[in-house]
Amino acid sequence: MLPTDKSQDSWRLALKYIGRCPLCNEDYKQENAELFDKNETSNLVHITCNKCKINFVAAIFLLGQGISTVGALTDLSLDDIKKIHGKEPVTADEVINLHNLLQSGDFFKS
Ligand SMILES: [Zn+2]
Repeated sequence: MLPTDKSQDSWRLALKYIGRCPLCNEDYKQENAELFDKNETSNLVHITCNKCKINFVAAIFLLGQGISTVGALTDLSLDDIKKIHGKEPVTADEVINLHNLLQSGDFFKS
């Protein structure tokens, strides 16, 4: 008997718990959802509403006792999410360097 690993798609089941679009109340469809990151306990899913096309990002936590989800509406498309996700956060030093560069005026000369 082959081992069956259902954990791969278990986040899809969690879509049932997210349920409906908060804007237009349309049921979310699995084909409109895509997993863009996962680790042992959480899955990050981007969902586009079939009807109103609003984007929704959900974190689905698969815990031993059950499933927990948090989500937020976003104007980021799945491509945008993939672009920014996984990049290093901007450090304070980088912000200060940019600030100094803008202050010095050199930024606009070249
Ligand atoms: Zn909708």
